[in-house]
Amino acid sequence: MNLVERYPKRNYTPSATPIEKLEHLSRALGGPDIYIKRDDLLGLTAGGNKTRKLEYLVADALEQGADTLITAGGVQSNHARLTLAAAVKEGLKCQLVLEETETHPYNDKASGNNLLYHLLGVEKVKTLQAGQDLTSAMAELNAELQKVGRKGYMIPVGGSNEIGSLGYAVCANEITRQAEQENLYFDHIVVPSGSGGTQVGLILGFSGSRHEHNILGINVSRSTELQEELISGLLERVCSYYDVAGKISENVIRCNGEYVGQGYAIPTEGMIEAVQLVAQTEGILLDPVYTGKAMAGLIDYVRTGQFKEGEKVLFVHTGGSPALYQYAETILSGLKR
Ligand SMILES: *Cc1c(COP(=O)(O)O)cnc(C)c1O
Repeated sequence: MNLVERYPKRNYTPSATPIEKLEHLSRALGGPDIYIKRDDLLGLTAGGNKTRKLEYLVADALEQGADTLITAGGVQSNHARLTLAAAVKEGLKCQLVLEETETHPYNDKASGNNLLYHLLGVEKVKTLQAGQDLTSAMAELNAELQKVGRKGYMIPVGGSNEIGSLGYAVCANEITRQAEQENLYFDHIVVPSGSGGTQVGLILGFSGSRHEHNILGINVSRSTELQEELISGLLERVCSYYDVAGKISENVIRCNGEYVGQGYAIPTEGMIEAVQLVAQTEGILLDPVYTGKAMAGLIDYVRTGQFKEGEKVLFVHTGGSPALYQYAETILSGLKR
């Protein structure tokens, strides 16, 4: 669908990210041919999927004359890091609202993304207890800025709204072009599914193409049912915003909640195995919260015969490796040596 040229966009990555064939991983698993879309190589600081969303969100912020980006996420949020990195690149300020959970309290001295928030020069960090309202906390920061004559721009959790999702429609177009050039057809396209903008953008971008029905979201925090509802709701909003309502059928929405484990950002054995296997067969770093769990799902689909020999599977690597360093103990203690 060709919406993408109609909206203002910043450019944070000089060219298309590669699609690589994972020969060694495919052989190790003994099933389908596995390919990877290297969106972990997107621009900004250790870029990942939020880089594509921010190309549209920040263009909108600049059009509105904002001087400060405000966003929210977990205490180790890749989205928060990349929003801050985009602010640095554009000469804007950035303020963050971070949500603590029982398993992940805020620690100002933590490594991973927390270290990078401070290194990149975040202007303000406000922490909230789990379950408190992130959106109204952002609105409070925005109101404080307004009082002193500044102008904030609020970006929702994960950058998953009508504007941010467009970044993944662009990615779908890019994949379609690359697949045509290499004469490839992907029977399955596997993507981590969190706040949903990535999966919804892919659905939008692939609609009407040969890959339309092949997208599988592996959930990182919710059950199958709740995630499918979330995707459906966001897809509806996105479609009406871009005036394509009714053009995309609901049966392209597929999510799987079996690989979440105990909850968001809580390690699973499958995640640790996946992170280790991909590192040791391909030299590629996954992350413990999103891509590690999504790859654990892919591996299980191969082992249970749901992805078959002779098929081609594309894994969308959405980034996130900085969080690995905050999970060093877990990863090390779970490694098979
Ligand atoms: C945010 C994030 C995701 C999830 O993307 P959504 O659009 O929120 O579903 C996946 N992988 C990484 C590394 C992320 O930071």
